[in-house]
Amino acid sequence: MPRYKPLPMKSRYEAAEAERFCQQYGAYGRDLAMRVYTSRLLGSDPALVLHGGGNTSVKATAHDLYGDSVEVLCVKGSGWDLASIEPAGFPACRLAPLRRACQLERMTDEEMVAELRRQLMDPASPNPSVEALLHAYLPAKFVDHTHADAVLAVVDQADAEQRCHSIFGDDVLFVPYVMPGFVLARRVAQLWDGFKSARRREPTAMILDKHGIFSWGETAQESYERMIALVTRAEQALPAAAAPSDGPTELDDERRSVALAFRGALARATERGWIAHWRSAPKMAHFTRRADLAKVSQQGCATPDHVIRTKRSPLILGDRQPDEALASYAKSYDEYVERCARERHVTVKKLDSLPRVVLVRDLGVLCLGKSKSDAMIVGDIYEHTVEIIEAASALGEYRPVGELDLFDVEYWSLEQAKLALKKQAAGALEGKVALVTGAASGIGLATSRALLAAGAHVVVTDRDERVLDAVSEWPQEKYPDRFVARVCDVTKERDCRAAVAAACDAFGGLDVLVSNAGTAPSGLLHEASGDTALRRSLEENLLSHQQMARAAAQAMIAQGCGGVLLFNASKSAFNPGAEFGPYAIPKAAVVALMRQYAIDLGAHGIRANAINADRVRTKLFDEGVLEARARARGLSPSEYFRANLLSRETTAEHVAEAFVFLASAEATTGCVITVDGGNPAAFPR
Ligand code: ZN
Repeated sequence: MPRYKPLPMKSRYEAAEAERFCQQYGAYGRDLAMRVYTSRLLGSDPALVLHGGGNTSVKATAHDLYGDSVEVLCVKGSGWDLASIEPAGFPACRLAPLRRACQLERMTDEEMVAELRRQLMDPASPNPSVEALLHAYLPAKFVDHTHADAVLAVVDQADAEQRCHSIFGDDVLFVPYVMPGFVLARRVAQLWDGFKSARRREPTAMILDKHGIFSWGETAQESYERMIALVTRAEQALPAAAAPSDGPTELDDERRSVALAFRGALARATERGWIAHWRSAPKMAHFTRRADLAKVSQQGCATPDHVIRTKRSPLILGDRQPDEALASYAKSYDEYVERCARERHVTVKKLDSLPRVVLVRDLGVLCLGKSKSDAMIVGDIYEHTVEIIEAASALGEYRPVGELDLFDVEYWSLEQAKLALKKQAAGALEGKVALVTGAASGIGLATSRALLAAGAHVVVTDRDERVLDAVSEWPQEKYPDRFVARVCDVTKERDCRAAVAAACDAFGGLDVLVSNAGTAPSGLLHEASGDTALRRSLEENLLSHQQMARAAAQAMIAQGCGGVLLFNASKSAFNPGAEFGPYAIPKAAVVALMRQYAIDLGAHGIRANAINADRVRTKLFDEGVLEARARARGLSPSEYFRANLLSRETTAEHVAEAFVFLASAEATTGCVITVDGGNPAAFPR
């Protein structure tokens, strides 16, 4: 098998760029501006820092309310990511009390957090990093901490200490594993004194066994470049790992069906929606074929921080069905919690017993999360875990932090607090996946937005390519990773299948179809033009719904956790208008189609419902249709929209509300909801 080595790490420090940061953040002082610059350099390299991992600090002088100058530690605040950190992400704490705290015999987590908050210069700041005491203790001005892959491959070994001495030399302090937080700060304080008295100098960096690396310096550049130099030494010490052969990375039907089956099994086990996301690059598929997979993959996380994202170990699917595999994973997870809690003499509130990482031989790694962003973080972390395991195994034997120590971190309140910070507001459709057709405008657009607001992940489709433009303007921060846009012409069966496949590829499956796309042709049926319009409309306004519903139903049945097919019928289904036969006839049939699906799919727990909306200003009324429909009812266009019992205009948002309701109304099927301001002639009967 060919061997490969990743490109060696290089310093990306540029004096001109540093100067630009000093200009931009001049108001915060040069120290903090430089702190932001090199923190971002570290944070934007995933081989050094992943998703909120790592932390940095600078010691500076601040002024209090009375104008007195105070020595402070500006350290990364909880909830900030080094890749995008701003000056506000470095809360300033009075330095002297933090240094004193490192000399205390003991301190609880709660006492530590309280003391850090008490010493904040600005009480409105975010919580300082749990490593703030350690940053305070280290004498250098700038301090950087990462969980670099190459360093982890070296420290996740049984004989890490010897290896570190030979790789990093005698100027580096090796710290045997202890829990992060106060205990680590205290331990470093003791080891530091020992190092100094034995060697008559101070260490230049610090390697934390099974955890990561600290570098420091009097300037941001010195600390950063020392980090890069040390990580490069670790990289050079690693033998070339086996290079995976090339293989398809596109998702195929086999991977889609595994994702559907897992989503279904998880939904049945937890009664909530989950997102499943594949990582199937050649290196991931290659990893699943390791002869020792059952051993290496179950050793634990590469660095303790990862446990809150990936759990201690992945599930290996093997020949089992997902339900069976999940049940046995849950059993062994529960046993692990019980065993560790007993050993540590603690009682804990057990977290969920479900895996986040599933290894499927030949196919790759299926990542699970309560949202797409969670599943993506799991995927990113596990991709690096795979590289670390491969490198560590090539070097010696992968032996990361043990079960009990991981348990301490997994059930550490300060770690769980990190997740709580990121938690999004829960909606009725959290974890559910919806697909909307005809979403470029009008009801489809409003419904897509309403589904997102209710917490769903949404595949937004339209035959109009402008759907992609419109959607790209939606706020990513508000709906991170929760929507994708696809061009889909519902009159083409291939497009309908591709749209459902897109839902599986992006989110792992499908729970809600909003079959909305349609046209509004008119004409007299006894005339040739009306006959032609009817035939075309049957394709566009009936058979398109059928082929979209059929593709969606097949995915929902494969998932086995219910789902709902929602159709945009029209009041024309109940109250046809003059010269509007080509529209009304297929719409009446859509209601029949919905009822048939409700009957045929009830046994699968799949519901089917329709909306009977009327006179909503959408592009269906363009090109003279509005004037013609108003004339057919003997009304002016403005009277036309208000001619209902409530004398109010019905908007696309009103229809969207009803779709969201039907998407979550678990006991409602075969139902038509009217959204038209009230029209006795169109009451469903
Ligand atoms: Zn760390």
